Amino acid sequence: MQKKGNLRKNKRVVILGGGFGGVNLYKNLHALMHNEGDNLEFIIISDNNYFLFTPLLHEVATGSLSPGDITSALRENFSCCIREIILEKVISIDAYKKKIVLKNESISFDYLVIATGASVNFWGIEGAERYAIPLKDIKDAIKLKNQIISTFELANELKKKTIKIVLVGGGATGIELAVEIFEFGQEMKPFYENLKVEDTRIIVEVLNSSEEIVPGFSQKVRNKIMTTLSKEGSDIFIKTDSNVKKVNEKEVILSDGKKVNYDVLVWSAGVKPNTPEINIDSVKNTEKIKVNKFFNIEPFKNIFSIGDVSEFTDYNGKSLPQLAQVATEESKICAENIYRLYKNKDFIPFEYKEKGLLLSLGRNNAIVSINTIVLTGKTAWILWKFIYLALMYGRGSRIRLVLKWILNSISKRDISRI
Ligand SMILES: Cc1cc2nc3c(=O)[nH]c(=O)nc-3n(C[C@H](O)[C@H](O)[C@H](O)COP(=O)(O)OP(=O)(O)OC[C@H]3O[C@@H](n4cnc5c(N)ncnc54)[C@H](O)[C@@H]3O)c2cc1C
Repeated sequence: MQKKGNLRKNKRVVILGGGFGGVNLYKNLHALMHNEGDNLEFIIISDNNYFLFTPLLHEVATGSLSPGDITSALRENFSCCIREIILEKVISIDAYKKKIVLKNESISFDYLVIATGASVNFWGIEGAERYAIPLKDIKDAIKLKNQIISTFELANELKKKTIKIVLVGGGATGIELAVEIFEFGQEMKPFYENLKVEDTRIIVEVLNSSEEIVPGFSQKVRNKIMTTLSKEGSDIFIKTDSNVKKVNEKEVILSDGKKVNYDVLVWSAGVKPNTPEINIDSVKNTEKIKVNKFFNIEPFKNIFSIGDVSEFTDYNGKSLPQLAQVATEESKICAENIYRLYKNKDFIPFEYKEKGLLLSLGRNNAIVSINTIVLTGKTAWILWKFIYLALMYGRGSRIRLVLKWILNSISKRDISRI
């Protein structure tokens, strides 16, 4: 097994993961340490070669955006002071020997940041992984779009009067997707000779295990969502207290025995952390990586973790939500603390302040919730677009997105199966 850089004199920062946490950590730390010149180098290890802007994933799944509109190559994002970008899955971490183990080599580190995110959680529910389509990666979005279109093609052939799309999970992703899928369906209908008729229904049903949809949002937001969904002409239904027990080829079976039939089944019912194997006692037998207020995995001062894979407990004793804005904010203080460690200075603690929550409700409608202010409708939708535009990386990606959104305002969604 080859060991890279064991004789080096400089300091090496290894970042695991090229998502919101990893990319922002690099940007922030690089800004602080660029002037250190040859004393410092970065190695990025990620199993994908692109950064994915997940908040707009539902627009790819429903034909408003193309996959390339929300992805950008990691090599564009990590461009300076980089020794290497390794596109591999991390197998394990030896915290004592300061080593990352990959398939054919091991990489040494001085400072390590674990930002490997999370993946879909089917909670071990029988049939869920086999029959439901999740929305976590760009491949999922393409698969979901194709599946919706295939269902329309078949319905057209069979002259079906109803197409039913069921989503499991009434979090923000589930709700955004439900509205987009409904609108996508309405826009597709006129292209199908046998579905054009008025009485063909596109029904979208959201099954949520608890009584509360969109956890993290206020009751005021929930009420606004329910008002939007119950508008005349909408065929979107939220079924709360619907605990999925089993899934088969045609139906979702709930724990109270009720059966819900579907044509397309979408899974947006949670994620589990991508925790790599690591020989630190506090991480053994835990799902998420528990960190202290400086993002250290105790007792290691040089090992940090941020984003969806980590568990940061705030002063109220509550774990921070798995959100891009949390990972982004965490990356700032984590970068500062790595710099402080390098300079032999004391760490500073992190305190999370939520900037606000955004939720799109199809084309022309959104909810923007900042403190007690809740905006809805077209104004909120325009604001929603501007905020996401600002958060997007790279001038090229931003320009592409603006042009696409302008084009969308005068054209229909793409209904080609790719
Ligand atoms: C559909 C959808 C919509 C969302 N909408 C919003 C939103 O509107 N607002 C919001 O704030 N948040 C949103 N989120 C949540 C947000 O995407 C996550 O909170 C955020 O991506 C977390 O950042 P991260 O860096 O921890 O993980 P990620 O961004 O997921 O990055 C993890 C990286 O690690 C890599 N990786 C994973 N395992 C390994 C391994 N073993 N070895 C090497 N590399 C590995 C992955 O390839 C990836 O590059 C949404 C999520 C989804 C799925």
